[in-house]
Amino acid sequence: MKNINDYAGIVGQAVLDDLKIAAEKLKGKKITHVNSTPVGGGVAEILTRMVPLLNELGVVSDWQVIKGNNSFFDVTKKIHNNIHGSGEPLNKKEMDIFLENGLYNEQNMACDSDIMFIHDPQPITLINKKKENKWIWRCHVDASNPVFFTWQFLRGYIDKYDAAVFSSPFFSRELPIRQFLISPSIDPLSEKNRDMEPEEIKKHLEKYNIPVDKPLITQISRFDRLKDPVGVIQAYKKVKPYVDCRLLLAGGTAVDDPEGNIVYNEVLEAAGKDKDIIILNMPQDDSAVNAIQRASTVIMQKSLKEGFGLTVSEALWKSKPVVASNVGGIPLQITHKYSGMLCHSIDGAAFALKMILNNPDYAAKLGKNGREHVRNNFLLTRHIKEYMLLFLSLYHKEDIVFF
Ligand code: UDP
Repeated sequence: MKNINDYAGIVGQAVLDDLKIAAEKLKGKKITHVNSTPVGGGVAEILTRMVPLLNELGVVSDWQVIKGNNSFFDVTKKIHNNIHGSGEPLNKKEMDIFLENGLYNEQNMACDSDIMFIHDPQPITLINKKKENKWIWRCHVDASNPVFFTWQFLRGYIDKYDAAVFSSPFFSRELPIRQFLISPSIDPLSEKNRDMEPEEIKKHLEKYNIPVDKPLITQISRFDRLKDPVGVIQAYKKVKPYVDCRLLLAGGTAVDDPEGNIVYNEVLEAAGKDKDIIILNMPQDDSAVNAIQRASTVIMQKSLKEGFGLTVSEALWKSKPVVASNVGGIPLQITHKYSGMLCHSIDGAAFALKMILNNPDYAAKLGKNGREHVRNNFLLTRHIKEYMLLFLSLYHKEDIVFF
């Protein structure tokens, strides 16, 4: 585990000094983060590194995961899709399942820390336990155009929080509580993002049988329709007649995502018999993800909806050219033709892939610009600083805290 001072070489000592000042002002406060899965997906990815670093800075923090049965996670996946604007609204039976499971967690969790930091809709009803302490609801999803009824249902809970946090200015909603815009981040020193020698990269690729004799197009994502893995295959098929390349779709599952296996089978079917399409249903293996991203010629994130898309920052940090959809939080990370290529369709994705595969110098320039953009905007140190300012602001009337 890296020490907070190890980040000085990447972000500069002044950034760390700011963190220490803010942390000092939070002495005596305890923060509890709550989400719905310990591994898989971006929220778990962030908390795994953020919670230990907050503690190291002296901000006492812990992380708790709610419990849920299969029918609860079926409902919460539907809520997730509804916030993204897709699917039918919740029906009465689904609301009852959601509330019943919520009640179980309310009865089994103390929720008495000074600041309760609730991530995403799954644990949202814990707000029923609010006393004198402060409560934050952190929305990691693109809530710009939610299914109305489901959003109204959630509003019954959101409105009771002290503050809401969204990842992008585009997602903010009209709410009676204070709102903060804080982008997610990646940890440059984590197992997934640390530097890696070619020998080690090779070892991981061999373990997963990934050959590198052809240019490699990769998308790493949970098998989720909103990540559009089938669209990735279609884009690859349009490129393949012009550039002999290989496609890798690597993904895992998360306990709070029950659709993974169904979508995985859809992807296998779409891939057909093409031997240059590799579909990997892999366990959580951060060093392998790191190696795969580094070994790829181009990284894709062809999501139809996307809260932020940590995979984009992860790839840019490794100076990789990225082709990604112009949705959700992705345009915060990519400026078209400067730090990657944005696309709006399968044809657009195929065009961008060909452009990158045929122009290695251009690809390298996109990757280089992308890395600097991530360094300046999407590293964990900036994220921790903004969260600490948010915590402090809860004890002040004004929205902005100066220190
Ligand atoms: N991820 C992983 N293994 C997988 C699929 C995804 O480690 O098989 C990681 C990925 O590297 C990223 C996170 O899970 O760190 C996904 O975050 P993102 O914001 O891209 O999407 P989410 O899953 O939260 O919608």
